[in-house]
Amino acid sequence: MNKLDAQRQKEIQQAEELLFTGPQALGFAKGLFQGHFVSDWVMPYPRIPAAQQGELDDTLTELRKFLDEHLDPAEIDRQADIPRSVIDGLGRVGVLGMTAPKEYGGRGFSQMANCKVLEEIGRRCASTSVFVNAHHSIGIRALLLFGTHEQNQKWLPKLVTGEQLGAFALTEKEAGSDAANVQMQARPSEDGSHFILNGEKRYITNAAIAHELTVMARTPVPGSDKTAVTAFLVTPDMPGFEMLEARMPKMGIRGTATGRFALRDVKVPKENILGPQGKGLKVALTVLDFGRTTFGACCTGAAKTCLELAVQHANTRKQFNKTLGNFHLVKKKIARIAADAYAMESMTTVTAAFIDRGLEDYMLETAMLKVFTTERLWECINDVFQIYGGSAYFVDLPLERMMRDARINQIGEGANEVLTSFIALVGMRGPGMEFKEIYDTMMKPSRDRMSKAWAAGKSRLGATIRVPDVPVQSDQLRDYARQLGHLIRRFNFAVNRALITYREPILDMQLVQERIANAAMDLFASTCVLSRLDGEIQFARRNGDAAAPDHSAANLFLRQSFRRIRGFLAGLTNNDDKSVLATADSCLAELRS
Ligand SMILES: Cc1cc2nc3c(=O)[nH]c(=O)nc-3n(C[C@H](O)[C@H](O)[C@H](O)COP(=O)(O)OP(=O)(O)OC[C@H]3O[C@@H](n4cnc5c(N)ncnc54)[C@H](O)[C@@H]3O)c2cc1C
Repeated sequence: MNKLDAQRQKEIQQAEELLFTGPQALGFAKGLFQGHFVSDWVMPYPRIPAAQQGELDDTLTELRKFLDEHLDPAEIDRQADIPRSVIDGLGRVGVLGMTAPKEYGGRGFSQMANCKVLEEIGRRCASTSVFVNAHHSIGIRALLLFGTHEQNQKWLPKLVTGEQLGAFALTEKEAGSDAANVQMQARPSEDGSHFILNGEKRYITNAAIAHELTVMARTPVPGSDKTAVTAFLVTPDMPGFEMLEARMPKMGIRGTATGRFALRDVKVPKENILGPQGKGLKVALTVLDFGRTTFGACCTGAAKTCLELAVQHANTRKQFNKTLGNFHLVKKKIARIAADAYAMESMTTVTAAFIDRGLEDYMLETAMLKVFTTERLWECINDVFQIYGGSAYFVDLPLERMMRDARINQIGEGANEVLTSFIALVGMRGPGMEFKEIYDTMMKPSRDRMSKAWAAGKSRLGATIRVPDVPVQSDQLRDYARQLGHLIRRFNFAVNRALITYREPILDMQLVQERIANAAMDLFASTCVLSRLDGEIQFARRNGDAAAPDHSAANLFLRQSFRRIRGFLAGLTNNDDKSVLATADSCLAELRS
């Protein structure tokens, strides 16, 4: 085995250990890759229970009032700071401990309800929503998920009120997208009472204002010469904690304090280890699952603002003696924003409900949500920017700020390229294992293998023949449901063909992976939209609403999404990949020489 192959094997083994622990119920996205429609997780469309809805409505009313009176996103951007009074106010409304249990002073909200709160903040100010996400969705989330009762009692009460703030510190110079490459070292002391941490972290939101940071560092694996990542609770008052740059000047979300810090022989008590020693990457990935869900909520809020702004301008600005809304190329943009905003909200709600309902494995869906909503929001902002023409360019309108703010979304919490590849590879693992079973049996037949290969073959063949049932309640949606079922079958067929054609090299074929991931994301998005639409139609019917609600945005989304899926699948066999790669290789080689 050459060095590259050995490295690849090591990476595969690490990923297997990290991502696939024991048998789990088949989730929705993994089901898609197997040709199934796991309807229980997505239908009927989830609703917040009536008892919680009242509390949520009260909170939203209070939050809106507070934000209307005290939040000035333009000033936050200009000053590159979120005033302490705003942070305190968010704390009073309960935003900074929304999902923490009541026994620690939190509000005990579900992830679905929390997403509604984040959507409201994301509508107005991306700096503030990223700050809240860094503190709550990823900062104290590690404690909520992995903290012992003692740790939670010690740390949470002040964090959930906002008296103290949290941060999540994974990124380093050598560990960006390659998160497993953390270099910060944590050496155990001789008496075993603490660890001594050394290294630097960069690009950490809230680093300079946080009182508690979840820091990832490498600890020795007992009985071997290996190291593994462990999560530590670190406080800035620990001797040796050095803030290198409290607020790195930056393009967007300028109100957030993004910092760089060093730990130099910082002694961290062993009681501050969060989760099992050596399982820090698991802690990080699980925490990011939650962060990506609220990311979706914030993007939904911002997309709704895009729609409001677009409609406002298109209805008032006149050119050629007509308001802009009369021009089809303007209408097209407004319609697309409306369709995407509807889909983003539906996907966020369904994904948050996975968490609330205790699905064990939703990492594919949260990755899909993150990539899909951040890419769509970027398009929405670009569209509304265009509708405003030259006026969008000036700082008296919020559009240039919204554009600067939105650009981080495609990079932070996992660059979209990395997540796209992840979605395709993790999704294809299930059918890939079945093909491997069949292939291994053909190469080396044995009685035991034959029966496993037979089961795998039956499963693959069955999924290729069967059109999965998409069980909608509303008659007028049956045609969409049928089309979706057929597209899932075609998707499964395309996945099978890619696996058979390319076999292991597919691990490096990101252009193929991208089409598969894009098709999967649109299948998931369409499912969420269809489920919500079905729910809304049924709700109106039960309540005897005579007027048919306007479902044009949802209908448009389904039509456009189905068309995109067909395009992605067709692109698997009809594309310019060779030419694309050859051109890039030629450019790369030219600059190297
Ligand atoms: C404003 C801001 C706030 C942040 N807050 C936090 C925080 O609170 N905590 C924290 O830990 N981190 C934080 N980060 C770090 C953020 O998560 C990283 O920037 C991100 O993970 C990307 O890492 P990188 O910047 O090192 O880019 P790199 O890893 O160098 O990647 C650069 C680009 O290369 C491409 N790329 C990389 N790998 C692949 C691949 N396998 N396949 C295809 N393309 C690839 C992608 O296009 C990617 O955008 C923050 C960053 C910013 C800018």
